[in-house]
Amino acid sequence: MATTMLRIALQKSGRLSEDSYQLFKECGIRFDYGTGKLKSVSSNFPAEFLFLRDDDIPGYVEDGVADLGIVGENVAVETGRAVQTVHKLGFSKCRLSIAIPRGETYNSLHDLNGKNIATSYPRLLGNYLAEQGVTAQIHEISGSVEIAPSIGLAEAVCDIVSSGSTLLSNGLKEVETIFRSEAIMIASNDLEAEKQALLDKLLFRIKAVQAAKN
Ligand code: ATP
Ligand code: ZN
Repeated sequence: MATTMLRIALQKSGRLSEDSYQLFKECGIRFDYGTGKLKSVSSNFPAEFLFLRDDDIPGYVEDGVADLGIVGENVAVETGRAVQTVHKLGFSKCRLSIAIPRGETYNSLHDLNGKNIATSYPRLLGNYLAEQGVTAQIHEISGSVEIAPSIGLAEAVCDIVSSGSTLLSNGLKEVETIFRSEAIMIASNDLEAEKQALLDKLLFRIKAVQAAKN
């Protein structure tokens, strides 16, 4: 009989990758990564790792192609996939903020009424504006959002910020934080019992690693 294995989707290479790989290492779970291969089976835990673009991970977990995944909360919410958050991981912390050209005055979010805002996060921004009773046009663009005001595409941007240096170098200032994010572990909504038992084992180790750091 084939043994049950957890399939775990991780970002192939980016701001989540190193800390994700490190987390499993600290849990004593060994696997090869960075070899250019798309997947790798652990040599000492019943798990297989898939290396993917972060944006694709919630969809794979929803579809059951992967059982678990590590993504930023921002991506998990934006993709709107039906998955469960099983644990917050405390790394890749960042915020999603609205920024405007440095020279512009700003009093409140209502200053954005009727304006164009460029973002890669139309769902998160749309929900926030609706909650706050602000009506603005959202321009979805997939990258280099912070140049939008200088090329006349939008009057404001809504983008991921950590230190703020990218905003600064594009002549922008942060005026509102709409969402705070960190890396989370997501899981499929209907894990079979054996996989759930493996997940519980994994979470037990992750919590022990986190407790040892605090
Ligand atoms: P991919 O090629 O996998 O699609 P990407 O370019 O979309 O990668 P990254 O820039 O690697 O994504 O960011 C991945 C996640 O890391 C983001 O969704 C966010 O949760 C978090 N993140 C983004 N920017 C920062 C930052 N400056 N500091 C810390 N965490 C960040
Ligand atoms: Zn991405």
